[in-house]
Amino acid sequence: MTTIEGNLQRVRERIAAACLAAGRPVTHVTLLAVSKTFGPEAVREAFAGGQRAFGENYIQEAVEKMALLRDLPVEWHCIGPIQSNKTRLVAENFSWAHTVDRLKIAERLSQQRPESLPELQVCIQVNVDAGATKSGVAPGEVLALARQIAQLPRLHLRGLMTIPDPAPDFEAQKAVHLKARALFDELRQMGLDIDTLSMGMTGDLEAAIAAGSTMVRVGTAIFGKR
Ligand SMILES: *Cc1c(COP(=O)(O)O)cnc(C)c1O
Repeated sequence: MTTIEGNLQRVRERIAAACLAAGRPVTHVTLLAVSKTFGPEAVREAFAGGQRAFGENYIQEAVEKMALLRDLPVEWHCIGPIQSNKTRLVAENFSWAHTVDRLKIAERLSQQRPESLPELQVCIQVNVDAGATKSGVAPGEVLALARQIAQLPRLHLRGLMTIPDPAPDFEAQKAVHLKARALFDELRQMGLDIDTLSMGMTGDLEAAIAAGSTMVRVGTAIFGKR
């Protein structure tokens, strides 16, 4: 077993333990392996270890990596900032975009998503802890944006994504993740058909799962330090 395969196994065990502690079925949490800055060989190792969903931040880097990995049936998730001039690359190359935070970006993705591909799966990035310098939609603006995105062809609105600032301990992490969870529940009560709460990384995946995360995005614990 390679180091990456061993690391993957340990991350799966962390997820399973967190699900057990939260009384949630382990099948409710998807592991996204964040391969940003690592080369195609690292992705191949993780694939050999059974990993199928990969997250990338830097769109240009990701597209170059994908070209070297065409032979692998992996699912690519865009988890980095999406500028207007990068929407076409995202629409044409990724299965998911987690970081939609403006209607204009969603509209471009909708227009540019090729007919030959399935709908692009979309999450709205929410600035849940209201960090002044952070990207993401303010919580009070999410419902209106979600309703607009849900109308756009070629996109499938799946839910919310957050990147909270690092918090000192489990309870503090969980408190922030619970805000995202409350917003997620509220949108569902308002009739939005969403099922994905993308939150939790290497340092806080247990707290995220305790708060209801359905997709954790883990880089360092699988591939090592960047
Ligand atoms: C880098 C990154 C991750 C993974 O972070 P780790 O702490 O390495 O697990 C998850 N989500 C986003 C948006 C990232 O940029």
